[in-house]
Amino acid sequence: MNVLVVNCGSSTVKYQLFAMDGEEVYQVLAKGLVERIGIPGSRLEHKFGERVFSQERDASNHRIALEWIIETLTSGETRVLHSISQIEAVGHRVVHGGEKFTGSVLIDETVLRVIRECADLAPLHNPPNILGIEACQALMPRVPQVAVFDTAFHGTIPEYAYIYAIPYEYYEKYRIRRYGFHGTSHRYVAERAAKIMGRDLRELRLITCHMGSGVSFAAVKEGKSIDTSMGFTPLEGLVMGTRCGDLDPAIVFFLMEKEGLSAEEVEEILNKRSGVLGISGVSSDTRDIEDAAPSHHRSRLTLEIIAYRAKKYIGAYYAILGGLDALVFTAGIGENSSFIRYSICKGLEHLGIYIDEERNKARRKEAFLNEDRSPVKILMVPTNEELMIARDTWRIVEELR
Ligand code: AMP
Repeated sequence: MNVLVVNCGSSTVKYQLFAMDGEEVYQVLAKGLVERIGIPGSRLEHKFGERVFSQERDASNHRIALEWIIETLTSGETRVLHSISQIEAVGHRVVHGGEKFTGSVLIDETVLRVIRECADLAPLHNPPNILGIEACQALMPRVPQVAVFDTAFHGTIPEYAYIYAIPYEYYEKYRIRRYGFHGTSHRYVAERAAKIMGRDLRELRLITCHMGSGVSFAAVKEGKSIDTSMGFTPLEGLVMGTRCGDLDPAIVFFLMEKEGLSAEEVEEILNKRSGVLGISGVSSDTRDIEDAAPSHHRSRLTLEIIAYRAKKYIGAYYAILGGLDALVFTAGIGENSSFIRYSICKGLEHLGIYIDEERNKARRKEAFLNEDRSPVKILMVPTNEELMIARDTWRIVEELR
C-alpha cells in the first residue's frame, strides 16, 4: 500500500511517500517539502533515492503546493509513481485532537468538524492541517485519509494530572486542561526503546525527552503517557528555542502593566522571544549557544538553565513513575547535542543514571549512552513521526479492506 504522509504548517507542506507491506515492512519512496507557501518564490525540495531535486515556483495556497508535490511524485525525472491513482491512503499529522481523539482515526465529515472545533485550542496549527486535509480530499476524493494527532498519546493522562488549579468551571466551559503535544514522537521513541532494550513496553517506566526547537518530556508507564510537560498549549514546560516554558503567571500581568503591553504582545514575547533566544540574546539555536558559551556568560547560563530544568522534570517523573528503567533522548537537540545530554544526566547518579562520556558521543543513531553499571538505561532514539503516521494509516486502511 502506498501511503502519503502529509504535515502541513502555516507556510509549509512536508511529505513522505511510503510503500508499506506491513507495519515493519516498508520503503520510503520519496520525501520532501514545499516552503514559502503564500509567499512569492515558493520552493520545493524532493529527495528520492540518493537524489535531491529542487524547484522554485509560486504556490499561493496549500492545494497548489500539494498539486505540485503530486506532479513531482508522478512525472518527469523525479517520478516514483506512474499516477496519482497509486496513492492508496493519506496520513495527516494533526496537532490538536482535543479530548475526543485518543487515537488515530479515519477522516469523515464528523472528524473534520471536530478538528475544526479544536482550532480554537491550536489556532496556529489546526487551520493549516485542515487545509491539507481538504486539499487532499479534493485531489484524491476516493482515497481514505487518516488523522494522527499530536495530542492523542497523552489521552491516558489521569484527571488529577491534567486539571489545572483554576476554577473548575473553566475546564467545563472552555476545556482548559493539560493536553500535551509531540505525542506521536513520544509514542514512537517509547516503542523503539522497548525494542532496543529487548523488553516489553508494558513492563517499563520511561521518561521520553523530545528536545528540538520545541521541547517536551513525557512520563511513560506500561506504554501509556501518564504526564507530560507541555500543557494547554505548547508553551508550558521546559526551556525551548523561543518559548519560555514554566513561568509564574503573575509575570504576565506585571509585564502588561510595567511595559504597557497588550495580551497579544505578551503572548508574542513568551512564544517567540523567550527561551534560549530570550536568555542568551544570541540565537534560538542551541548550536550557536554552545559555540558562544566559552566566551559569553548568558550563553553559558542558558545551557545551565536548560539542564537544570530538565533535571527537575526528570526528578518529578521519576517520583510519579515509581522508579525509572530508561531515559530516552530524541529530536534535534536530543539526537545531536552530546553536551546538553551530558549536562542533563551528570549529577543524577543518585537516581541510578550514569552517562558514559564515550558512548554519549553518538549522534543521530539508535544507541545506549549509559555506563554498563547504570541501573537506568540512557538511550538515544532518532524520532520518526512520519513512519508512525504511515503505520497508523496503513493499519486503519487495511481494516477497511
Ligand atoms: P528539531 O525541532 O527537532 O528539528 O530540532 C531543531 C533544533 O535542534 C535546532 O534549533 C537546534 O537547537 C538543535 N540542534 C540540531 N543539531 C544540533 C547540534 N549538533 N547541537 C546542538 N543542538 C542541535
